[in-house]
Amino acid sequence: METILYLAHTEDDGSLGRAAFEALTGAIELRQQVAGASLAVGLVGGEVSAAVTAVGGCGADAFYAVSGAEFSVSRYGTDAAALTALCRAANATVVVAPATARFNRVIPGVAQRLGGQIDTHVGGFIVNGAELRVQRGFYRQRMIATLTRSARPWFLTVDSGVFRKWEGAPAAAQAQAVGVASVAELTRTRVTGYQAPASTAQTIRPDAKLLFVAGVGWTKKQADGQPHLDDAAKIILGFLDKASASLGSSKSLVDQSSEGHNVFSFMSHLNQVGQTGATPRHPKGLSSCCHGEEPHVVGWRFIGERRAINLDPNCGWAQGKADVVYVADAFELVRKVTELL
Ligand SMILES: Cc1cc2nc3c(=O)[nH]c(=O)nc-3n(C[C@H](O)[C@H](O)[C@H](O)COP(=O)(O)OP(=O)(O)OC[C@H]3O[C@@H](n4cnc5c(N)ncnc54)[C@H](O)[C@@H]3O)c2cc1C
Repeated sequence: METILYLAHTEDDGSLGRAAFEALTGAIELRQQVAGASLAVGLVGGEVSAAVTAVGGCGADAFYAVSGAEFSVSRYGTDAAALTALCRAANATVVVAPATARFNRVIPGVAQRLGGQIDTHVGGFIVNGAELRVQRGFYRQRMIATLTRSARPWFLTVDSGVFRKWEGAPAAAQAQAVGVASVAELTRTRVTGYQAPASTAQTIRPDAKLLFVAGVGWTKKQADGQPHLDDAAKIILGFLDKASASLGSSKSLVDQSSEGHNVFSFMSHLNQVGQTGATPRHPKGLSSCCHGEEPHVVGWRFIGERRAINLDPNCGWAQGKADVVYVADAFELVRKVTELL
């Protein structure tokens, strides 16, 4: 009989993030599918009562929490000790957790401490009776493997975008407080602050609802015979900011910088989507000034609804690759949409 433990950490304000609610959907579905399985919830954070209530209606058999000021921050020592204690308290055999930066850092270590094993980037579950298998992409998600393990506890971290967000009503629940030993030693490492790039520099946002892709058309000569790079940069960044979108690129556009052309400083090869790039997961995608060739579009396989803007009514997107194609000047259209936003 599997005991599934769903793990989540609170955000600064005591709430749970989107990725946490998505992983909860995964854990609930898993519990429904694995014959005889039970579900427990384990939360870690500074103040967890709001989070307990937020997931209180998920149907879990038990709730556990490690809380206190020491656990409000992402710190390897306290997080590893807290998660290890939660797994022990719940007698977890399968652990489902969101692949947040905080958990990605610590959960492999927890698996090691408990003599378990871990699979990251889990993209789905396949259950046959009591046997659990997981799916995971390899080789830039071009190959999907289905695998199972006999080792327990088995830790599974779930990327955001795999499951829909759990939207059950909040409900009161009683969480059992789990203690952690030697907190004074664990807090010898002090967290003095958090450094992150400015939001305009951070263009890759895995949690965004929209992927906005820019193609090389943004750098091409336009109707007046001139390229308008400064304009293009302002329009792209302005839209990203207003739409809170994640920025993707075609290969041709990011390749230009390596060839010495003056292109966008806020883009790198990390933004590239496609066969030799990334395969991000977002509910929606909007492509602009990008032709929609197959090696690019193959990176859109996990994008829910696809739209494209292109001057060319015969572009690749119009050949059945996008749900909607706007035959329009992206400079005008994106500027106008940003204004409206
Ligand atoms: C082995 C291999 C692997 C590859 N891997 C990848 C990959 O991972 N990712 C990837 O992206 N590509 C990849 N490619 C390259 C891919 O085939 C295309 O060459 C590339 O995606 C084209 O980029 P683009 O659409 O930005 O540029 P272009 O093909 O030049 O298209 C620019 C488009 O912008 C439009 N446009 C111009 N001005 C405007 C305007 N004002 N408004 C609206 N539209 C406008 C034009 O009509 C045109 O359709 C790979 C190729 C190979 C051979």
